[in-house]
Amino acid sequence: MERFKSYFLKVFAKILTFILLIFITSAFIVKTEWGFYGHKKINRMAVFTLPPEMMYFFKENIEFLTDHGPDPDKRKYVDPHEAVKHYIDIDYWGTYPFPDLPRKWTDAMTKYVEIYAVEGEEKALLFGPKVNTVQNATLFGNNLLCSFSQYRKFIKNKVSSHILEQDLDFEIDSVSKWLDLDLSLFKGAVIHVEEHFSQEGIVPYHLYHYYFALVHAFEENDPKKILRRANDIGHYIADASVPLHTTKNYNGQLTGQIGIHAFWENRIPELLGDTEFDYFVGKAEYVENVRDFFWSIVLKSHSLKDKVLAAEKKVSLSIPDNEKYEFIERNGVVTRVQSEKYTRAFNKEMNGMVEMRMRDAIKALGNIWYTAWIDAGQPNLKDLDKIEWTKQEKEEMKKLKDAEKNGHLMGRDHWD
Ligand SMILES: [Zn+2]
Ligand SMILES: [Zn+2]
Repeated sequence: MERFKSYFLKVFAKILTFILLIFITSAFIVKTEWGFYGHKKINRMAVFTLPPEMMYFFKENIEFLTDHGPDPDKRKYVDPHEAVKHYIDIDYWGTYPFPDLPRKWTDAMTKYVEIYAVEGEEKALLFGPKVNTVQNATLFGNNLLCSFSQYRKFIKNKVSSHILEQDLDFEIDSVSKWLDLDLSLFKGAVIHVEEHFSQEGIVPYHLYHYYFALVHAFEENDPKKILRRANDIGHYIADASVPLHTTKNYNGQLTGQIGIHAFWENRIPELLGDTEFDYFVGKAEYVENVRDFFWSIVLKSHSLKDKVLAAEKKVSLSIPDNEKYEFIERNGVVTRVQSEKYTRAFNKEMNGMVEMRMRDAIKALGNIWYTAWIDAGQPNLKDLDKIEWTKQEKEEMKKLKDAEKNGHLMGRDHWD
């Protein structure tokens, strides 16, 4: 009987440990990009890089820019197309500096889109990355050829701006006309266009696209639009500045370092960001080539990712397992995080890289806000109406907040 008792006790203890473990790990997976801390800080500090003509408006709204810095992450819960805007697994497309990866969205789509003729169950590939070759000015697809410039024009005008939301279907006659291509062989079929490019992430393309949304907001003198877009572009710039947002090994899952993503972008800034980091980055400067600028952020991030992984590996071996984690309270939730000792060692091994990338992101954001304002013709921001959110707008903001609390993440997160 006694033996039974102790046996059951043991089993019970095991089950209890198991439940506890599940509880602990799920608490650990608190989904906070840049820990929220980073996004808030980067948006906030970028305000101080601005010239006086801009500073007035931005300073008046600095609390909004701080509080809403993490908003785009919350949209991942309501918009299935949001997640890919936060990263790019650029190493999926070759090796640094990725000369074959088109920097323009239309070029990327021209290269990677797949075009099929579909009739009932039959699906014939006409063009796509696996069959396309370009010789002189001619594009050769699957036993078809057409003018490359016409093909690109078709992608630019009919495909590239809608394809993220859905696959596209076209009537065969119109495609035949646009491409000056004899498709009579596929009479009765529908032309179906799909892409599998964006699933590897599109942050640099999205940044460039979104930049013009910000310019337009300035041009329209619409204070709410300016504020929202200035806020969101800050988020995407911050994400692009994170080395682990630019690799398919985004959470160390390919090198046995799961958890490294949050370790880098949450734990280090949270522990050291207020007391040991310096955010003075000087004045915002005009950016001549905005597209190249966004790509240089991503490439710089990617060039640092090996150092991030190597540093963590080294530090992880030097600290005993039982000294690696501790519990802290974060937003009222007790959370298991890397210990102070482990965190400081990781930060030291990387030579202050996290601080450097936060500073770079702040400066880049200031530059982009400033450049967008200049490109919009330097509108007078002092005359803008003071922002009063309507009841409905406030409700929408609350809904977004709740979506994160109650909803399911759509698309990929960085540590799934
Ligand atoms: Zn992240
Ligand atoms: Zn994000």
